[in-house]
Amino acid sequence: MLVDTHCHIHWKDYQLDADEVIERANKNGVNQMICVGTDYDTSKLAIEFAANRKGIYATIGIHPHYATAGLGDLESLIKDNLSSIVAIGEIGLDYYQNSIPKQDQADLLIKQIELALNYNLPIIFHVREAYDDFWPIIDKFLEKGSKIRGVLHSFTDSSDNLKKAIEHGLFIGVNGYSTFIKDEAKKMMYLSIPINKMLFETDAPFLTPVPFRGKINESAYIKNIAEYHGVVRSISFDEISTITTQNSRELFNL
Ligand SMILES: [Zn+2]
Repeated sequence: MLVDTHCHIHWKDYQLDADEVIERANKNGVNQMICVGTDYDTSKLAIEFAANRKGIYATIGIHPHYATAGLGDLESLIKDNLSSIVAIGEIGLDYYQNSIPKQDQADLLIKQIELALNYNLPIIFHVREAYDDFWPIIDKFLEKGSKIRGVLHSFTDSSDNLKKAIEHGLFIGVNGYSTFIKDEAKKMMYLSIPINKMLFETDAPFLTPVPFRGKINESAYIKNIAEYHGVVRSISFDEISTITTQNSRELFNL
């Protein structure tokens, strides 16, 4: 039993048939998939997509790439669908090839963290080349006594930021990127993630793992990501599957 904790197979422009993707995932032991929203429309769609499909869950949030429009009607979407969503996300800061002003990204991130806290939901964070601004925002909440539960999705950063994430009690989302990265320091970083803090995700359609590079990513490939990390950590596939699935259920209350 495995969980894909982050995918976008519900997107309208996803190039594969989503129901066939779910079927193949189930055949490969991936029985739960979290469909992640990136703006108002894809969040609403995630809720609708998950509504009549077994093992599919939805999150809602506005990604820093789409921060211009602001929060919009997101709070109503949460209120009206509270029992159908498992997290707020993906939200965060992205300074990589992103023209959205940093302050706008920070404002939107803060508002969405507040929503997550108000509705007692975990958070899926997307942070790229922006950790120096991200940690002070998180620390401000912690100083006020807020308890932030969440995952740093698609974590590809330094050992330093990994250490900070663990100190902040966050989970680490690991995807196909980890299976094809050649950089030794990065490989060591992945190896040093405490297994009780590790979550697997595809981020489909992006970041297809080995040995399917060049194909469109899909949730079934969680199996290959789990196999890869079992081998590099010298632990069995069953053990890494069991632990990461427990982690996923703990964070998202699946
Ligand atoms: Zn994503």
